[in-house]
Amino acid sequence: MADVTRMTATEIAALIAGGEASAVEVTQAHLDRIAAVDDRVHAFLHVDVDGALEAARAVDAKRAAGEELGPLAGVPVAVKDVLTAKGVPTTVGSKILQGWRPPYDSTIVRRLRAAGTVMLGKTNMDEFAMGSSTEYSAYGPTGNPWDLSRIPGGSGGGSSAALAAYEAPLAIGSDTGGSIRQPGAVTGTVGAKPTYGGTSRYGLVAFSSSLDTPGPCARTVLDAALLHEAIGGHDWRDSTSIPAPVPDVVAAARAGAGGDLTGVRLGLVTEFSGEGAEPGVMAAFRDAVDALTKLGAEIVEVSCPHFQYALPAYYLIAPSECSSNLARFDGVRFGLRVGDDGVHSLEEVMSLTRDAGFGPEVKRRIMLGTYALSSGYYDAYYGQAQKVRTLITRDFTAAFEQADVLISPTTPFVAFPFGSRTSDPYQMYLADLFTIPTNLYGGPGISVPCGLSEGLPVGLQIMAPTMADDRMYRVGAALESVIGTLTPPEL
Ligand code: GLN
Repeated sequence: MADVTRMTATEIAALIAGGEASAVEVTQAHLDRIAAVDDRVHAFLHVDVDGALEAARAVDAKRAAGEELGPLAGVPVAVKDVLTAKGVPTTVGSKILQGWRPPYDSTIVRRLRAAGTVMLGKTNMDEFAMGSSTEYSAYGPTGNPWDLSRIPGGSGGGSSAALAAYEAPLAIGSDTGGSIRQPGAVTGTVGAKPTYGGTSRYGLVAFSSSLDTPGPCARTVLDAALLHEAIGGHDWRDSTSIPAPVPDVVAAARAGAGGDLTGVRLGLVTEFSGEGAEPGVMAAFRDAVDALTKLGAEIVEVSCPHFQYALPAYYLIAPSECSSNLARFDGVRFGLRVGDDGVHSLEEVMSLTRDAGFGPEVKRRIMLGTYALSSGYYDAYYGQAQKVRTLITRDFTAAFEQADVLISPTTPFVAFPFGSRTSDPYQMYLADLFTIPTNLYGGPGISVPCGLSEGLPVGLQIMAPTMADDRMYRVGAALESVIGTLTPPEL
């Protein structure tokens, strides 16, 4: 049998459905691959060998009994450690949750199980999903399979690295400011942020609740669409979940693969026309735009003047929400507890626990957010940022009157070497310059590989109106039909 770890999820599912491979064989092949390379890549924080093989056996039993299998039955998936899975360690990349085994499944994990996918384990991430390089994980960084001395993006670097290292054909990420798309871009994989509310936040450890969006990561656009369909849709357990069916992303990906974009209007955002981006990234992006034009797409230039304020607005809104959300980690209810010796007071235990349990970036965000929400400063910071958010939403609404989707590079720079942006927080924040507006607006965005710069992957971002996720899959699949998938050097 050919090496299943090199196959797409679609191909693997077909093998299993056709009886050419068992789910157990497919799972074992991926577990073997993880055993062979993950000491160097470090994509996983926890590999659930027993749970994965048990899930695989259940799929094989279903097939043997002649039961109907879903389109992803038996396909392995790696899950970002921000989502709970019953009984499986969930750390969010933080020491404060070390040893915590949640008593319940997140909706995403529950739906993954219902679809018959096989959860291989939990992937590495920046602590509490704050970061763009995975260097802020309390458990050490993840390497980019294209060059192990470089970052795989963040915060979901583990999920994207697992795909690029052929440790998993599918993965789940979460995107608050770019944490699915930016790791996708710098690892040469596909990452999609669904419409906010299109995928459930139930069981997703909260960072910034008005922005957090779980979503699919894969090596192809169609695989991402299949995963999106499996995890998406209304969930009564999440109060901001949208009560509407998932847009038909799978049909859109299939249609786009035909390579015809006749009549599709692609909006080039004037404010993202290259300032602040590496020349090699812009060159790959422009070549990809030419390729899309040859498929029949029409290019229109759109101006979104408030996008330049997206980054500062985000760094007020996200830390504000984080300072509130992270108050629950008090050393009493979950995970780590320090100083519980009968000598220290309750307040001291909380303070000692937080000091030991949170890393420097998380502490910075809590302090920033607490300040932005404090009496006397609230209107000037948090209130002002919310007004900017409204202006950005208006920019999107106006732009979508002229264009069906907006496109830009996903990130201003290719994968950077470890340590090169950790000394200046702002340099790290810039990684999400092009992805953050989408989060503030709430619409969907996808990153699809569009070429190389200096031998490293470049991603093209496609942004669509809210609940028009299908549009970005159509354009993404069309781009993929020209560019193909990117193959990293052998590890
Ligand atoms: N890099 C951004 C941040 O640090 C976005 C993170 C995310 O999307 N989770 O906040």
